[in-house]
Amino acid sequence: MAEQSRETTSAVAGPRLHLGCPSCGAQLVVEASLRTTRCPYCAAPNVVERPPVPGVPEPVFALGFTVTHGAAKEHVARWLKTRSRFTRSGIRTAEPGEVRGVYVPAYLYSVLAHARFRASIGEDYQEQETYTTTENGKTVTRTRTVTRTEWRSLDGELKGYVADVLVTASTGLRNDELEALEPFDLRGLARYTPALISGWVAEEPSLTREQCLVQARREAEELVGERLGRFMPGDSHRELQHESRLDWEALDVCLLPVWVLAVRYAEGEPPLRVLVNGQTGEVQGKAPLSVWKVTAAVLAVLVLVAVGWLLSQGGGR
Ligand SMILES: [Zn+2]
Repeated sequence: MAEQSRETTSAVAGPRLHLGCPSCGAQLVVEASLRTTRCPYCAAPNVVERPPVPGVPEPVFALGFTVTHGAAKEHVARWLKTRSRFTRSGIRTAEPGEVRGVYVPAYLYSVLAHARFRASIGEDYQEQETYTTTENGKTVTRTRTVTRTEWRSLDGELKGYVADVLVTASTGLRNDELEALEPFDLRGLARYTPALISGWVAEEPSLTREQCLVQARREAEELVGERLGRFMPGDSHRELQHESRLDWEALDVCLLPVWVLAVRYAEGEPPLRVLVNGQTGEVQGKAPLSVWKVTAAVLAVLVLVAVGWLLSQGGGR
């Protein structure tokens, strides 16, 4: 496998241009013929040429675009149209044609986790209970069935492989944004060759391997926790604690297909980003509401209520 990757990644594509966005910090790579001055992530118009950064890891895998530009435009147009009427001006009228495809760098992490855990396991049982109550002014004794839980502690080990953890390696796209776009079907991953991304804008990984490793381990430990939660016996459990020894860690750069529409709707505000998973068509974005539109609507309702009240008062006399 290592032999193969060395061969394929040394293949040479057309002349490449290294571009930097002074606004969001994205480090882009495009073919010289695709020279762009606008950042696909933040729509800043002043992307500039920069020298290549030495030591940037080459991608090992890439996932191709399956959602076409036309389809991405339609997904975005539908998303924009279905935003609330109270969304800030300029968002619902944004031009979906400005959506751009970017190969976003991420780290793909897998690991063999040996988890040691400790938890309280609850077993439910039924019991008859007598109680007193008052009926027709008399104190009477009754019985009822109650469910109680007996707790016992359990500790043990669970060994398992955690695969397909993705963490962003991009300064352009935050990790929570990538998580919102997941899942990607990683069965479609191919070995990276420069030809694979020919004709597209790609971002270079700009977060360090160490930064991404910390995040990847955290996410893997969370997945171990979820797996343990499903594995616990009994009717319920609480105080589940676990710690894993991590072996056979693998961390490879892969490129993910994402369509991005950056909407600059107001001066001095960060752009709204509408993202489309380039493989599944899943659309994500957080359209901010307009304080003025919401206030105006609330005032309009209050005026209607007041008028209604006045009319009802007038009618009563
Ligand atoms: Zn930017």
